[in-house]
Amino acid sequence: MVEHKNSLEKELIRSEKLKTAGQLAAGVVHEIRNPLTTIKGFMQLFQNKEHLGQEDQKYYQLIISEISRIEGIITELLNTAKPNASKEVNFDINNIIEDIVLLHKSIADEKSIEIVTDCYSLPEVKQDPDQIKKVFINIIKNCIEAMDKKGVLTITTNYIKDKEEVEITFKDTGCGMDEETLNKIGTPFYTTKEAGTGLGMLTCFRIVDEMGGSLNIKSKLGEGTTFIITVPVN
Ligand code: ADP
Ligand code: MG
Repeated sequence: MVEHKNSLEKELIRSEKLKTAGQLAAGVVHEIRNPLTTIKGFMQLFQNKEHLGQEDQKYYQLIISEISRIEGIITELLNTAKPNASKEVNFDINNIIEDIVLLHKSIADEKSIEIVTDCYSLPEVKQDPDQIKKVFINIIKNCIEAMDKKGVLTITTNYIKDKEEVEITFKDTGCGMDEETLNKIGTPFYTTKEAGTGLGMLTCFRIVDEMGGSLNIKSKLGEGTTFIITVPVN
């Protein structure tokens, strides 16, 4: 079993890196978005010209869909980089889990993936529920993507009383990760997926970091992956 555990030093470097990457990304995204919108607009205009042959139509369509893909990536990048406009409230993490599971039920069913929850009663945490939701959604998405067909995603919650923290684990029976992937996970743009952005786990690490919590990952190639998140209670 390979484990992704952060030493304090590594944690500090990561958090500093996240901040810099975030600032850089927010700036770049702004500069890229406007010209991209102009290009897409003109492409759509050209595509609708009457004299275009079928072949050319196809090329224009391809260009436009590639531009849309870039737009998608930079939007996700902006979400990743966005400073946390935090609206903290008291809430029960179990309620969020319930919502999120419901949200993923149909996509899980489609792949014959079973989602099992094992949730214990928790004290409320004072955090931004939208941020926590973002973390859970990114992780569940990764777990579902890691399971080809059939599989079980087990979500558990616990209150660790002596540490005053809530622990949430997501365990999949998917493809697992080798050591290299586990070391690189969370690095901006690191992805092993053809249509991946490599931004999901970066977002998770940043948010958990800001909450003063922790995110650890254990994985075994061919067997599955477990994500362990802790969130401080106040
Ligand atoms: P993306 O999903 O766009 O590739 P992420 O940052 O969410 O970007 O994940 C980065 C990489 O980490 C993935 O491409 C994959 O290789 C690996 N990974 C993440 N979650 C899992 C998981 N549950 N099982 C196996 N590999 C995973
Ligand atoms: Mg992902």
